[in-house]
Amino acid sequence: MSLDYTSLLLAVGFSAACLSLTLFGMWLTARSERFLLTWAVSLVFVVGDIFVYDAYIDMPGRLLGIATLAFLLIGFSAMLGAAYQFRTGGSPVRRTLLGCLSLVVTLPPMAMGYDGLGFMFENSFAALLLFGTALEYWRGRDEAPALTIGITALYSATATSFALCAMVLAWDGKIVLGHAPSNWAEELSLIVVIASMTGIGALSLALNQGRLARHHRRNALTDPLTGLLNRRALFDMHGHVPVGAFTAVVVFDLDNFKAINDEFGHGAGDEVLKVFARELAGNLRQTDVAARMGGEEFALVLKRTLPETVEEAAERIRIAFSARQIETEMGSLTCTVSAGFAFGTKEGLSFDKVLSAADKALYVAKRGGRNRVTASAFRRAS
Ligand code: GH3
Ligand code: MG
Ligand code: MG
Repeated sequence: MSLDYTSLLLAVGFSAACLSLTLFGMWLTARSERFLLTWAVSLVFVVGDIFVYDAYIDMPGRLLGIATLAFLLIGFSAMLGAAYQFRTGGSPVRRTLLGCLSLVVTLPPMAMGYDGLGFMFENSFAALLLFGTALEYWRGRDEAPALTIGITALYSATATSFALCAMVLAWDGKIVLGHAPSNWAEELSLIVVIASMTGIGALSLALNQGRLARHHRRNALTDPLTGLLNRRALFDMHGHVPVGAFTAVVVFDLDNFKAINDEFGHGAGDEVLKVFARELAGNLRQTDVAARMGGEEFALVLKRTLPETVEEAAERIRIAFSARQIETEMGSLTCTVSAGFAFGTKEGLSFDKVLSAADKALYVAKRGGRNRVTASAFRRAS
C-alpha cells in the first residue's frame, strides 16, 4: 500500500484539533459537563504529539523523542480521566495521574538513546490507556447501550492498533532505531485512528446530548425542593388514563402552614415540606406514585387497592407526620396534615374528576377540624 504517511498524520492532527475546539465550545455552552473540558485538553496533548512526532520523523533526536512520548501518554491519560469523569461525574485527576506513571517507564529509555525500546513502551501504554478508556464506556453502557458499545468498540480498535505497533517493534527486537518506527502496523494504526476519531467524536457528542435531554426532562418533571414528581409529571403519568375502581387518589394539604411560615420563616416552612415529602416517600409501595402538586399540597396515587387500605395508608402518614418534631433554625415545631381520598369507577373516571373528588373530601377534613383523613362522599355513596 502506498501511503503518504506524513500528510495523513497531519490530517489527523488537524482533525483532532477541530474536535478539541468543538468540545471546548460545547463545554462553554454547558459548563456543568466538565468532562468535555478534560477531553478537549486531552486532545490538545494528542495534537501536540502529532506535530512533534511529525518533526521527529524529519529530525529524530532525543528531545523531540521525549516530547512526542510525553505528549501522547499525557493526552491518552487525560482521555481516560475524561471517560471516567463522564461515567461517574467524579474527578479525572486520579486516573490521569495514574496514567502518567507510564512516563516513568517510557521516558528513561528514550532519554538514554534506546528509542526502539521507548516506542515499544509508548505503544504498549497507549494501548493500555485506550483499553482503559474503552472499559469506562463499557461499564457505563446501561445509559445508552448502542452508543456506548459503539464507542467501546472504536476505542478498543484503536487500542488494538497501538498494541500491534508495540508487537511489531518487539518482534523486530531493535532497542535502538535511530528514526521513527516505520512498518505496516504504524500505517494501519493511523488509518484506524482516522476512522475511529470521527466515529468516537460523533457518538460521544450524541451520547452527551442524550444525557442532557434526559437531564432536562427529569428536571422538568421533578419538584426541586422535595425531589418528588411535580404536578406535570403526575398528569403525564395518570392524566390521560381513566381511573378504575381499584385506583385511589389521596390529596394531602398541610394544616395552618401559612402560620408556620409567618412564625418561623419561609426556610422553616421549606424544611417542613421536605419532612412531609420524606414521610410520603417512605410509605410508598412500588406501584404507588407521590407528587407535590404545588405549595403545601401533595397527592398520592395508589393502584390495586381498597378503601380500607387507602385510609390506613393515609392515616399512617398523617399520624407519623404529626408525631415528628421538626428542627428548624428558628426552633423546633410540629405540624399536622389533612387528607381526602377518592376512587375511580368500574367504567373508568377521568383523573381530573377523581382528583377533584379527593379535593372535596380534603375540604371536608379541613372543615371538620383538620388533622384527619376523609373519604370522598362520592365513593361512599356508590
Ligand atoms: P389550611 O390548614 O386551611 O390549609 O391553611 P394553610 O395556612 O395551610 O393554607 P393557605 O393556603 O392559607 O397557605 C398556604 C401557604 O403555603 C401560603 C404560602 O405562602 C405557603 N407556601 C406555598 N408554597 C410554599 C413553599 O414552597 N415554601 C414555603 N415555605 N411556603 C410555601
Ligand atoms: Mg393549600
Ligand atoms: Mg394548607
